[in-house]
Amino acid sequence: MVGAGPAGIYAADALTRQDAVPVAVDLIDRLPTPFGLVRHGIAPDHPKMRAIRDTLHRSLDDPLVRFVGNVDVGTDISLDELRRHVDAVIYTYGASVDRQLGIEGEELPGSLAATDLVAWYTGHPDADRERVEAALAGVRSAVVIGVGNVALDVGRVLARTAPELEPTDMPQHVLDVLAAMPVEEVTILGRRGPAQAAFTTQELRELDGLEGATVLVDAADLVLDPEAEERASTDRNVSRNLAVMRGWVDHVPTPGRTQLRLRFFGRPVRLLGEDRVTGVEVERTAVDGDGRVMGTGELSVIPADLVVRSVGYRGLPLPGLPVDERSGTVPNEDGRVLREGRVSPGEYAAGWIKRGPSGVVGTNKHDARETVARLLADAADGTLRTHGPVDDLVDELVRRGARPVLLDDWRAIDAAEIALGATRGRARTTLHERESLLAAVRAAAAG
Ligand code: NAP
Repeated sequence: MVGAGPAGIYAADALTRQDAVPVAVDLIDRLPTPFGLVRHGIAPDHPKMRAIRDTLHRSLDDPLVRFVGNVDVGTDISLDELRRHVDAVIYTYGASVDRQLGIEGEELPGSLAATDLVAWYTGHPDADRERVEAALAGVRSAVVIGVGNVALDVGRVLARTAPELEPTDMPQHVLDVLAAMPVEEVTILGRRGPAQAAFTTQELRELDGLEGATVLVDAADLVLDPEAEERASTDRNVSRNLAVMRGWVDHVPTPGRTQLRLRFFGRPVRLLGEDRVTGVEVERTAVDGDGRVMGTGELSVIPADLVVRSVGYRGLPLPGLPVDERSGTVPNEDGRVLREGRVSPGEYAAGWIKRGPSGVVGTNKHDARETVARLLADAADGTLRTHGPVDDLVDELVRRGARPVLLDDWRAIDAAEIALGATRGRARTTLHERESLLAAVRAAAAG
């Protein structure tokens, strides 16, 4: 597997739980840590959801599975060389980069992608600390563009009080920066209406339980046209979302509390500001019968000193692996990778790089099983040819100068994070810098 997030781990699990074909699995990750978006995506104030890592960990403990972290396929070893060492590769490296809005001002300081902010607050080693922390300094009003679950995560984290975030596993410097932000207003902006919002009801409902924020929604935004009514009557998520939001229309701003505002029918036209963002120019929209967004020409400005675009993720190509520009996924047929339209024997994909950024963590289980079923079928009919004994992959990586992090090394990182958390009465504190992660490995090795 290339990628030790949920998709890779579920695929490893599906392979080791069958006995038709004997297997050994290497779970490669470019980070020294496993779990992908479970570690660096799920919001730190969702500890129950993050606890899924305990289940995933059991699969790493399987003797047929080997975690091989801190290895960048494409740099430490090329895809061709990797493929010479194994019989099959499953690409499970996800969709890690942001989508852009393509509007003026998007590159101004104070404008961030949700992927940047989430990477930073979950302690991803590649997060651009300097840029994110400069964007957050002194922020009073923020606009989050997009109405998916990631937008709710970002809006919620920005609106939380310091005591609410204190018990999480966020790195200490992240907690300090968030605690110092004098946030007064967060607007989550949808370009279409409430009936077309992508967020789910459980996540929406949570916005009303924050200690220091009042959730606000304009009653006028909740008036539905007949098509939206129809959608609400046939889609339970939509009808529940609407019921939750209708329960909030009487909320009024309370002095001293952050206003967490949901606003619909507004599409960002450009970000305003010279040296940094000062606001978002928004065009009022209408939604046609097919759910398509149409501009009305009516412009307004939402003042903001931080703008976070949360409009989806996309996958990047690995050197030597095609990725469809538009969908950001590896071309595939039910998990069998296609090169120039034809199945490429021995190459598979699972998770977000296979189907795009959708669903919850558990969705990847079914998805990975589908891919593994294809792999096993190919092994059974001879499409997938095994090439006999080769040099051990980890030995080869070490020969090439890579520093693979194996399961015991990861355990040392895990223990160091738990110990660091304990110094402040927390279950864990994430080590942010790659160097700190590797130092924990070295310290354990030195005894
Ligand atoms: P998402 O659910 O696809 O939402 C993307 C949002 O961006 C949509 O509201 C979309 O609006 C909007 N958007 C796209 N292009 C835009 C543009 N140019 N201008 C303005 N708005 C634009 O993506 P996501 O929030 O990144 O989440 C990814 C996946 O992870 C989802 O399946 C999500 O449910 C899952 N997730 C789950 C949880 C959880 O369970 N707690 C937490 C986080 C993420 P349109 O619909 O109009 O395109």
